Amino acid sequence: MIFDVNFFRSQFPILSEKIYGKQLVYLDNGATTQKPHSVLEKIMDVYERYNSNVHRGVHHLSNITTDLHENARKRVAEHINAISDREVVFTRGTTESINLMAYSFGETYCHEGDEIIVSAMEHHANLVPWQLLCERKKMKLRIAPIDANGCLILPELYKLFNERTKLLSITHVSNVTGIVNPIEEIVNEAHAHHVPVLIDAAQSMPHMIVDVQAIDCDFMAFSGHKMYGPNGIGVLYGRRRFLDEMVPYQSGGAMIDKVTLEKTTFLPAPLRFEAGTPDYVGAIGLAAAIDYIDNIGKESIRDHEKHLTEYALEGLRSIDGVRIIGESENRSSVVSFLVGDAHPYDTGMILDKMGIAVRTGHHCAQPLMTHFGITGTVRASFAIYNTTSDVDALIDGVKRVKTMLCK
Ligand code: PMP
Repeated sequence: MIFDVNFFRSQFPILSEKIYGKQLVYLDNGATTQKPHSVLEKIMDVYERYNSNVHRGVHHLSNITTDLHENARKRVAEHINAISDREVVFTRGTTESINLMAYSFGETYCHEGDEIIVSAMEHHANLVPWQLLCERKKMKLRIAPIDANGCLILPELYKLFNERTKLLSITHVSNVTGIVNPIEEIVNEAHAHHVPVLIDAAQSMPHMIVDVQAIDCDFMAFSGHKMYGPNGIGVLYGRRRFLDEMVPYQSGGAMIDKVTLEKTTFLPAPLRFEAGTPDYVGAIGLAAAIDYIDNIGKESIRDHEKHLTEYALEGLRSIDGVRIIGESENRSSVVSFLVGDAHPYDTGMILDKMGIAVRTGHHCAQPLMTHFGITGTVRASFAIYNTTSDVDALIDGVKRVKTMLCK
């Protein structure tokens, strides 16, 4: 497909919205992406023509939604190159996927004195559930350190593996700095110590080819809403030999094999982790989003976003007093920065008045902020529909912030 950014823009209705009478410049894609017509139409289509609860009915509509839902699972499996669609558990998003892991993996495999490793750059979603597990089970949470640029110090990470390590749970891409971790190498080293690995792919899945077999990870979590899909749907990928052993997370309907008043047996994975009515409309919408992405091609998406990121970094660096937070050769389409001594909220508010949506604050990564000795950053993050004009607007906005707020 020819890469025509204006054509892509025309597929996202929200991008024609005006903010304070100005054209919306949406640079908050790391928080959530906008949705193309094809995804919105698919959601409408399900509600208008097929809506019916899945897995339970024998009637026509229920069979259609069940097929669409299970085909969506197949579509996800294909997209991440899972061996089987039975390795794909639908969840509400990355946060729920990691909570599921902290409960089900924790209850199945972890005991007092065991250890879990995370890194100092994690989103709270990949930190707090592990803290709670460690408290509950009297285990130890080990933290892989990062350097002054925000990059993992690999030899220090590798020193943390020992015979008590039960899992390494680590992000693929930092949501604050955009730094891409060398995930294949890390998984390789973990496996050499017989430690399984969970990858938080919330910030990588929308932007790069993520192949679970090539990475050789044991688990992976990501969210639909960050990859042009609906809110409230996400995925936990897991190897079957783990998923089929792990105790259920939530319980109730749809995940049982046989129930008596005394005892219940459960279905195999993935259904044993999907208690209650699943968000089948979300799953079908996610499959439409994956179709959308694959139709463009992740290489093209990555090239386009790389160009925008480099352009933004160059523009921001040319402004005296602007500090980029986190430096690495290998980065995704996220740029965090500070403008002189201006508070990130003030910067964000002024940019907002210009119609520019950026994220400000600690980005759910307070330990990383502490590491950098700051309370927050301004974060611009790019998607398929962003243009160099969007970046120009950001750079002009930052110059204005500087004149208004900095001495
Ligand atoms: N991990 C990372 C790296 C993230 O960027 C996010 C979202 N900002 C999450 C986890 C949590 O994702 P969600 O809110 O969709 O569950």
